[in-house]
Amino acid sequence: MDTASAQASTQATRRVRIVIIGSGFSGLCAAIKLKESGEHDFVIVERAAALGGTWRDNTYPGCACDVPAHLYSYSFQLNPAWSHTYAPGSEIWAYLEHCADTYALRRHIVFQQTVTAAKFDADACRWRVETKEGATYEAQFVIVGIGGLSNASWPKIDGVSTFSGVQFHTAEWNHSVSLADKRVAVIGTGASAIQVVPAIAPIVKKLLLFQRTPPWVLPRIERRYSEGRKWLFAHYPATMRLLRGFFYRMQEGVTPWLTQFRDHPRGQRFIERMARHNIERSIKDPALRERVTPRYAPGCKRLLLSNDYYPALARDNVTLVSDAITRITPSGPVTASGETYDVDVIVYATGFAVSEYLHGLHVTGLGGRELSHEWQHKPEAYLGTLTSGFPNLFFLTGPNTGLGTNSVVVIIEAQVALIVDCLRQLSARGARSIEVIAEVQRRYNEELQSRLSRTVWNSGGCRSWYLAENGHNYTLWPGTTREFRARTQQANPDDYRFTN
Ligand code: NAP
Repeated sequence: MDTASAQASTQATRRVRIVIIGSGFSGLCAAIKLKESGEHDFVIVERAAALGGTWRDNTYPGCACDVPAHLYSYSFQLNPAWSHTYAPGSEIWAYLEHCADTYALRRHIVFQQTVTAAKFDADACRWRVETKEGATYEAQFVIVGIGGLSNASWPKIDGVSTFSGVQFHTAEWNHSVSLADKRVAVIGTGASAIQVVPAIAPIVKKLLLFQRTPPWVLPRIERRYSEGRKWLFAHYPATMRLLRGFFYRMQEGVTPWLTQFRDHPRGQRFIERMARHNIERSIKDPALRERVTPRYAPGCKRLLLSNDYYPALARDNVTLVSDAITRITPSGPVTASGETYDVDVIVYATGFAVSEYLHGLHVTGLGGRELSHEWQHKPEAYLGTLTSGFPNLFFLTGPNTGLGTNSVVVIIEAQVALIVDCLRQLSARGARSIEVIAEVQRRYNEELQSRLSRTVWNSGGCRSWYLAENGHNYTLWPGTTREFRARTQQANPDDYRFTN
């Protein structure tokens, strides 16, 4: 089916074998591997007008990946043309577009359809998937690839809507607004902020950076790949694989420093020394040094990489405000000390609504079970992919699949391998549905939470978006990616209920 007819048919109920929701790294990977396994009857439903997920949406100045690009790409589609060790966001988006063309995926994608509901009909053994725009799909399987970093999180600060200047979130950058010679407030000091601040500091008149908690920032060891190097990668792909392997082993090697951090005091000290050196080499003012130095274990919040963040803070036109914002007035933020900061633009670098896994998607499983209800306080799955009571439903980057150090693309590929194997086993048995056994899921999550309690994320002395209100960590995987890959390589038939 071509794109036009795919779009047209969205208004009637369309029957397909598989619905994939989202066309980011996850959705595209699922589509590619399904095709390779012989599955061609699938549709990718995408809410936006273009594919690419987080790399389509995040276009803020300085946006780049903080995982080496040769590792932050599909293992089966390496890219010899990456310009830098850490590729700019626009290159990653172009890479995904290229993958969609290479694997002829565009004709499977229906754009500008936001899936709002998926309901399982046990008798027919089919999911009924509905979109906000009025389309309906009936499918035997649903793969949810909507990602955790897809919905911007706006802070709950009084008066946000009263601000009379221009304001926007980093994930929804307003490119029609010139920041040249403007007084700009940036709220937040996470991964997005440390990239935005150095990029805009040289052009704005005044930059006020509002910090609630300082991050640990390590130097970024980066190089621009020369044309010769790219030629070598293109003509001798083994060299690219070697480089990827090097990055992979490096990231895996650091993982135990975070997952069993009390057993690795030397690793922790090493990270802290590097981060402190990064501060000292860029900031001369002892008071400012003090204010940007965290008071929690490195890695508790995501470790950030930058060579230009601290130098930006040391600029004359940049002021770090570490006093808490109490409200926003029409002229700008007001802090706890009562000071008002008059600005023209406010940039919210305040992250994503990560804990809302379903992002408003209404999923109804067996016996009318509502997933949003079940996941409201306890988003649990098995291997981040299947959840009991919801047959033939698969999640990519679901609960406890995030990583503190490595490339999430490795996890996505592992999850997709598991899904493909589930479908293979299902067909081999002549079964119609597959569901993880509740007790298997319960034991698995008990194991995860027990392991997570010993990690730096849970007990490193900070509060981060990794942790839910109840203090549990439903976000991160507590081991190496090697372990995750081993556990997802094949579906263990004893873990699942197959129904004919
Ligand atoms: P983030 O890490 O959640 O940081 C949000 C920042 O906003 C934090 O500094 C937070 O302070 C602050 N904040 C939130 N509400 C606030 C309030 N009411 N007042 C003042 N400050 C407030 O978000 P992010 O920087 O967008 O990054 C999110 C994730 O996206 C990253 O962890 C990473 O996984 C991904 N990311 C990756 C890259 C990359 O290079 N690959 C780049 C950008 C983002 P607290 O620390 O006190 O909560």
